[in-house]
Amino acid sequence: MDDLVGRFPLIEDMKNGKEVFWLNPGLDNRLPEEMTTADIADASARLARFAPYIMRAFPETVPSGGIIESPLKDIPEMKTFLEEKSGGTLSGRLLLKCDSELPISGSIKARGGIYEVLCFAEKVALESGLLKSGGDYAALDEDRFRELFSRYAVSVGSTGNLGLSIGIMSARLGFRVTVHMSADARQWKKDLLRQKGAKVAEYRGDFQMAVAEGRRQAEGDPRCHFVDDENSRALFLGYAVAAERLERQLAGMGITVDGGHPLFVYLPCGVGGGPGGVTFGLKHVFGEHVHCFFAEPVQSPCMLLGILTGRHDGICVQDIGLSGKTSADGLAVGRPSKLVGRLVGNLLDGLFTVSDSRMEELVRILYAKEGVFVEPSATAGFPGFSTVQQRGNYRERFSPASMERSVHIVWATGGSMVPEEERKKYLAEP
Ligand SMILES: *Cc1c(COP(=O)(O)O)cnc(C)c1O
Repeated sequence: MDDLVGRFPLIEDMKNGKEVFWLNPGLDNRLPEEMTTADIADASARLARFAPYIMRAFPETVPSGGIIESPLKDIPEMKTFLEEKSGGTLSGRLLLKCDSELPISGSIKARGGIYEVLCFAEKVALESGLLKSGGDYAALDEDRFRELFSRYAVSVGSTGNLGLSIGIMSARLGFRVTVHMSADARQWKKDLLRQKGAKVAEYRGDFQMAVAEGRRQAEGDPRCHFVDDENSRALFLGYAVAAERLERQLAGMGITVDGGHPLFVYLPCGVGGGPGGVTFGLKHVFGEHVHCFFAEPVQSPCMLLGILTGRHDGICVQDIGLSGKTSADGLAVGRPSKLVGRLVGNLLDGLFTVSDSRMEELVRILYAKEGVFVEPSATAGFPGFSTVQQRGNYRERFSPASMERSVHIVWATGGSMVPEEERKKYLAEP
């Protein structure tokens, strides 16, 4: 590599595995032109069309009318803890967006992953003539549709949560689905997928190999849809729909977002689709009044590296000597998405990194203080809440009065699918 550290001194700390906090000089709030409000509205309408089917196939979604959505909770005890830890007063209201409790697959992937499978199912069903535009989507749960879908396949490479979402949804519809995993993926995820009717292909090499093999197999089969986590518009738009739902939840809690009431959102980032899609949606809804931050593990800050250097997927964390390894499932990504940094790089207030031990500790503290269990990746956002208020050069962008009225959302991206035995391990003191 050429003299990256000379041009981007922050990389020195990143190389050394230190926690860093980067404010984005490229923030300009200009929305990208390749994707629009109409695209988000289209995704939202598609999810609404499928709601009668989702309700029938997954009865746990009956209370929400077949809409896959998660609670937004006040976490005052956690706020008190973070204040004590930071040694000062932290302004504003702290909320947890509990995507860890999303129905069907228990992580943020239940937004994008399920949406992408539904797009494929709708296309196949309409083209077959079995489903008419404007028809009753609940019928997709009948044998004639399962028979139709069994002639098609879905394939994805994933170490975990994306595989669960794609696998569970595809198998329920009747698609032949293969999840390509590296051998070191967690055993319980493989077991669960097989139990739900998905095929799990294991590869001894690393995860990139598993993805490449999945892609290769799908390319040879015109009836196979490959879910491309690094490059998918459908995934991205599925995540983006979260924003209009969040707007309604905030309004329901009497929370205003405007110039005098800023909203801060802290999102764990892996390849970038999840946090990128949510950010894209939020900027459409709240414009410059929402302030989005991505959080990454110290060993895999791929999005920070891509945006900071402007090289996006042309650089990976191994290029600066990092391992890319982390105990935070979902965030162990060495190279960012081809799409996301380019679409939302100018919409982020900043990015920061978090050590594994801090995420693991926050799992235990969140459980102790609020009784909420999440997996380690889901806690990556918490340090943002303290840091934005303690960094003078950031905090001074806001008046003390508006900071007083601010609302902060930590996006808890996964956890409810983690089996009891595994939870105990996470919750045990080291
Ligand atoms: C996938 C995932 C993320 C990050 O989403 P990306 O689209 O990979 O950036 C964060 N947390 C959890 C629990 C995940 O499974």
